[in-house]
Amino acid sequence: MDISKKPDWLKIRLKNGYSLNYVNTILEKYSLNTVCEEANCPNQLECFSKKTATFMILGSQCSRNCRFCNVSHGKLQKVNPIEPTNIANAVIELGLKHVVITSVTRDDLTDGGAEHFAKTINSIKALNKDIIVEVLVPDFQGNEKALKKVVDAKPEIINHNIETVQRLYEEVRPEAIYTRSLELLKNVKLMDKRIYTKSGIMVGLGEEYKEVIQVFKDLRGVQCDFLTVGQYLAPSKEHYSVKEYVHPNIFEKYKEEALELGFNFVASDPLVRSSYNAYECIRGQA
Ligand code: SF4
Ligand code: SF4
Repeated sequence: MDISKKPDWLKIRLKNGYSLNYVNTILEKYSLNTVCEEANCPNQLECFSKKTATFMILGSQCSRNCRFCNVSHGKLQKVNPIEPTNIANAVIELGLKHVVITSVTRDDLTDGGAEHFAKTINSIKALNKDIIVEVLVPDFQGNEKALKKVVDAKPEIINHNIETVQRLYEEVRPEAIYTRSLELLKNVKLMDKRIYTKSGIMVGLGEEYKEVIQVFKDLRGVQCDFLTVGQYLAPSKEHYSVKEYVHPNIFEKYKEEALELGFNFVASDPLVRSSYNAYECIRGQA
């Protein structure tokens, strides 16, 4: 496959109706980072107009170095104690109904930043308990006590991305462990089965169809509720290279197979990102 040229189905879908300037003003006011902006996500207008955004907490520098990711790996920053309050205020001012909170991985912190996640959830809920809070968490290096802090803050959804098939972990995500990620999702359900769990995989990294299906089975094996499947796009030439642009028909097939395996919600499309259409997952589930 010629991967030097992006196929038509990856053209960015821009939709009018919401002012990105307005969003940016609020983000600047509270000195916040969104993944939407940092990753120059193609879905920004659509997500913001649907009242969804993804905030990134715990700084902008990551302690890990996954080969597909664009986040920087410089000096790790001090945790900003007022960040949870700032996020809560921004969420209210932006009128968001569903907010996704994620972070860089902070293996340098004793609890991996779990307490900070919990504070952020609590701050949002204190201002409006009806806002749906989804957290997209790192693996906390398997630290169950850290995970429990997040679970106890009762977000509606805990998301942890499996990212790729088991065979490619060493090459693509060398500091992560496939089974440890599954274990995290399993532990959420053991700690509080009312919390929905979610995971996501990128395709186009050189995986085979049957390996992707095996990931779906493994996720269902730990009762994962929601699934996202999207096309991997390399942030630069230095990053892990795209091996394939997966055809939209295959994304359809993945969706069918995943629903058959019992996921409650599946978003599978080349432009799907972990938080894309996040609000749709939970609609009608409660
Ligand atoms: Fe933001 Fe996620 Fe939507 Fe992209 S898909 S704009 S990262 S909420
Ligand atoms: Fe990027 Fe997450 Fe890997 Fe850090 S741990 S490099 S934020 S994917």
